[in-house]
Amino acid sequence: MTATIIDGKAIGDELRREVAAGVQQRLDSGKSRPGLATVLVGENPASQVYVKSKQKACAEVGIESFGHELPRDASQAEVERLVTQLNADPAVNGILVQLPLPSGLDEEKILSAISIEKDVDGFHPINIGRLAQKGRDPLFVPCTPAGVMYMLEKEFPSLEGLNAVVLGRSNIVGMPVALLLVRANATVTICHSRTKNLPDVVRSADVLVAAVGKAEMVRKDWIKPGAVIIDVGINRVEDATKPRGYRLVGDVCFDEAAEVARAITPVPGGVGPLTIAMLLRNTLRAASLQDA
Ligand code: NDP
Repeated sequence: MTATIIDGKAIGDELRREVAAGVQQRLDSGKSRPGLATVLVGENPASQVYVKSKQKACAEVGIESFGHELPRDASQAEVERLVTQLNADPAVNGILVQLPLPSGLDEEKILSAISIEKDVDGFHPINIGRLAQKGRDPLFVPCTPAGVMYMLEKEFPSLEGLNAVVLGRSNIVGMPVALLLVRANATVTICHSRTKNLPDVVRSADVLVAAVGKAEMVRKDWIKPGAVIIDVGINRVEDATKPRGYRLVGDVCFDEAAEVARAITPVPGGVGPLTIAMLLRNTLRAASLQDA
C-alpha cells in the first residue's frame, strides 16, 4: 500500500474540540448556549440511529438538543407547524429535519419552511441556490459535502485547475460537492447512473469523490496514479467472520485503490465523522449569526 490514509476520526475530533471551545467562549462571554432541534418523522431505524448520534454529539460539545418526534402518519401541516414553532423559538438556533421523510410528505416544502438562518443542514432551496450562483454565498453548506471539502483542503493547498470527478448527483451529497468543487476552481465532471465509459472518466480524476452507494464499485484500474480519493459511500456487505454478520465498505475498493492513490479515506472512519462535526460547527455558526 502506498496511499496515505486520511483519518476522518482524528480530523472530526479536532473539529469537535474547536466547536466545544467556541461554545465555551460564548458561555464565558454571557451569550446563550447554542441549541439544535431535531425533527424525526416516523420510525426509520437508520434515521433513529442518526438522530441519536447527532444529539449525543451535541451534548459532548455543550450544544443543547431538542428532540421532536412525530408519528409516521403525521400530516404535512403538522410537520410544517412544528417547523414554524421552532423557527420562532429563540432557544433553537438550528433545525434539522431528518431525511428521508416518510412518503406522502412534501420534502421540498418542509425544507423550505425552515428559516434560512436556522438551516444548519444547508438544504433550504435558497441556501442550495446560492451555492450554485456565482458571487453569492449560502449561509450554511450541507454537512457531508462540507466535510469532503474540509478533507480535500487539507490535502491540497489549492484545487484550482485540478480535474475532479464526482460519482453521484444526489441533492444531499453529489450535487453540492460538485458545486463546492466548482467554487474551488476545480474542473468538475459529475457522473451518474447513465454515464458512459465510467472507468475512463474516473481515470481522468486528480480528485475523486465517490457518493454512489455501490459496494467497492471503483477498482484499481479506474484510478489515476497519485489521485486523492474521498469515499463517501457506506455499504453493508455480508461477512460471516463479523459478529454482526456484515461489514461496512465504501464505493471504492479500498485495498486496490490504496496501491495507486496518493491519499484515500477509509470506510468507516473517513467522511462519516466529519458529517456530524460539520453539523455542530454549523449550529455554533447559526448561534453567532443570530446574536447580531
Ligand atoms: P443516492 O442514492 O441519493 O444517489 C446515488 C447517486 O449515485 C445517484 O446520482 C445515482 O445516479 C448514482 N449512481 C447509482 N448507481 C450508479 C452507477 N452504477 N454508476 C454511476 N452512478 C451511479 O445516494 P446518496 O447521495 O444519498 O448517498 C451515496 C452514498 O453515500 C451512500 O452509500 C450513502 O450511504 C452514503 N452517505 C454517506 C454519508 C456520510 O456521512 N459518510 C452521508 C450521506 C450519504 P442517478 O442520479 O442517475 O440515479
